[in-house]
Amino acid sequence: MRDNFSKEVKRVIAERVGFCCSNPSCRARTSGPQIDPTKSLKVGVAAHITAASPTGLRYNPALSPEERKHAENAIWLCQICGKLVDNDADRFPEGLLRNWKRQAEAESLSTIGKTHSPVDTASRLALNDQRLKMVMEHYGIRGTPKYMIDTFDDLTTAEKAELYDKAVFLKKGRKSKHNPYLGTE
Ligand SMILES: [Zn+2]
Repeated sequence: MRDNFSKEVKRVIAERVGFCCSNPSCRARTSGPQIDPTKSLKVGVAAHITAASPTGLRYNPALSPEERKHAENAIWLCQICGKLVDNDADRFPEGLLRNWKRQAEAESLSTIGKTHSPVDTASRLALNDQRLKMVMEHYGIRGTPKYMIDTFDDLTTAEKAELYDKAVFLKKGRKSKHNPYLGTE
C-alpha cells in the first residue's frame, strides 16, 4: 500500500515553489508549453520526504497514512532530482530535504511578484539570515557547517565564506582558524 499524494497536494506544493525544483543546486523549471495551445507540460514530481510505503526510503512508521500523503511530507523536485533523492537516503536524509523545501519556499516568497529575478538586497539579507539558522540547526550533525553551506549554490564564494565565519563564531564564540572558502591561510 502506497500513500500517494492527491492531485491537489501536488499542485499546491509545485505552486509554492513557482514550479522550480526545490534542490538548491538545481532549481530547474518544471513546467512549460506543449504544442497544443490548450496544454502544458510538467517535468516535476512530488517526492515523498518520508516514504509512501514501508519498502521506500526514509520510511517513518510513526506517521499515519493521512500524514504520509499530506503536503507537509511532499517536496517538489525535477524528475532527475526526484530520482536521485529516491535512490540514496544516506545522501538525502529527511532533515536535508526539509531544509531544501523551506529554502525553496522562502526564495519563492521573496521573489514573488518582483520584476527582477535577482533577489534585492533586503530580501537577500533576510534569506541569508534564514540560511544561517539552517546551518546552525545542522551544525555538528553532518560535521562542519560546510556541508550545509555547499547546498546554497547561488551564493558567491565570498558570501559562503562570510556565512561560514558567522556560523563558527555563533557556535564557538571565536573566529574560525580555517575557512574552507578562503583557501589556505
Ligand atoms: Zn532538480
